[in-house]
Amino acid sequence: MSGVDSRGHVVVVGASLAGTRTALALRTLGYTAPITLIGAEDELPYDRPPLSKDLLKGAWSDEAVAALRLSSADELAELDIDLRLGSAAVALDPAGKTVSLADGTTVVYDTLVIATGAVARPSPWQPESGVYQLRTLADSRAIAGRLALGEPVVVVGGGFIGTEIAAAARSHGCPVVVVDPVPEPMARLVGPEIADVLVGLHRRNGAETRFGVGVAGISGTAGDLTITLADGTELSAGTAVVGIGSVPCDGWLAGSGLAIDNGVITDGFLRAEGADDVFAIGDVARWPHPGRGVDVRAEHWTNAGDQARYIAAAISGGGADAPYAPTDYVWSDQYDWKVNSVGWRDPEGASFVVGDLADEGRVAVIHEDAHGVACGAVTVNWVKALNQARRLLASGGPAATLVDQLRQLA
Ligand SMILES: Cc1cc2nc3c(=O)[nH]c(=O)nc-3n(C[C@H](O)[C@H](O)[C@H](O)COP(=O)(O)OP(=O)(O)OC[C@H]3O[C@@H](n4cnc5c(N)ncnc54)[C@H](O)[C@@H]3O)c2cc1C
Repeated sequence: MSGVDSRGHVVVVGASLAGTRTALALRTLGYTAPITLIGAEDELPYDRPPLSKDLLKGAWSDEAVAALRLSSADELAELDIDLRLGSAAVALDPAGKTVSLADGTTVVYDTLVIATGAVARPSPWQPESGVYQLRTLADSRAIAGRLALGEPVVVVGGGFIGTEIAAAARSHGCPVVVVDPVPEPMARLVGPEIADVLVGLHRRNGAETRFGVGVAGISGTAGDLTITLADGTELSAGTAVVGIGSVPCDGWLAGSGLAIDNGVITDGFLRAEGADDVFAIGDVARWPHPGRGVDVRAEHWTNAGDQARYIAAAISGGGADAPYAPTDYVWSDQYDWKVNSVGWRDPEGASFVVGDLADEGRVAVIHEDAHGVACGAVTVNWVKALNQARRLLASGGPAATLVDQLRQLA
């Protein structure tokens, strides 16, 4: 792909979902100017959700890893996307329009896309060995190796990633305890109704939960760990996996003058505050959510891909007509259950449960906002309800309509 394109050199920092999708979408949209894709990892771009699901549950294989790739070196070369792996960006100078890399080189951009994502929030407990965290392919591989031993596992953190790891550990026959200082850790993600049934699912599958009590310390080494809880209880395990959230990779932007506060602050068009030629997308970006009226940093797969397509269209078309409108879609696999969430829950609104897992094997919770308008839904094992909810949320209809429709479906 040669020829001169006056729209200028796009430099994308972060070669994972958001960054790779941006580069590919630009080419799909006919953008012919130079594109450079810079990634800190040595790995070709790959997808993260399977790292805590299929990859941890099954036997590790080259085919399974190959299926994670978001692109290949050949495809990127064919599209004339200059891929620079293993080269972390260490500084940004927005006035000079340059990005400095760890290898000492400097890249000049016309448009910069910051897509550096997030890392696992570091474990406060660091014994010599035996404590793992999950963000990268290498992390997943290391944890899979530990789970295959069948030894007892303590998972610290009862969010989606922690509970997916717990389910994977059970599938390897490991005795599992999930610890979280919050009494209902999953309620924040799926609301109390579904959080309850998910805890029941874990217990039925043999995972123990210790919620409402935190970890005071972890000592020992791999194969012989002691996890001491805040109430004095001591748990023995071969492996501990700490999944206590993530932090945005925005440290390299210190001193750049960009507004940073738990991520790169952008306007509704995903332009970094104070730098019109800089976009920030994916897990590293914090943007004004049009429906919720607050700034959010979404850490979800669908958002990263949607934002990549949105800014690629804006860059190639000379600007976007309307602010970014998210779909707010998240999913999680827990054992053989599929949990889906779309939209959000308004703390001032109401929620309605339709269906019954015990009787029908599926359930939906519909959220309405303070004005009676449907604003979100969580479904378990019920794809039709999810699709119906998505349609209604897109049209802005009343929650009562959706509840009626789902009762008929049920
Ligand atoms: C184990 C796991 C399971 C998940 N499961 C789900 C799920 O079921 N559903 C869901 O909706 N979401 C899930 N997610 C979240 C989803 O994967 C993320 O939202 C998505 O990966 C975000 O993409 P991103 O490109 O913004 O950031 P990332 O995927 O974090 O990628 C950022 C990239 O930038 C690189 N980078 C960082 N700093 C620099 C630097 N200074 N210079 C150059 N490169 C840099 C990083 O090495 C990384 O490769 C999961 C995440 C994990 C970790």
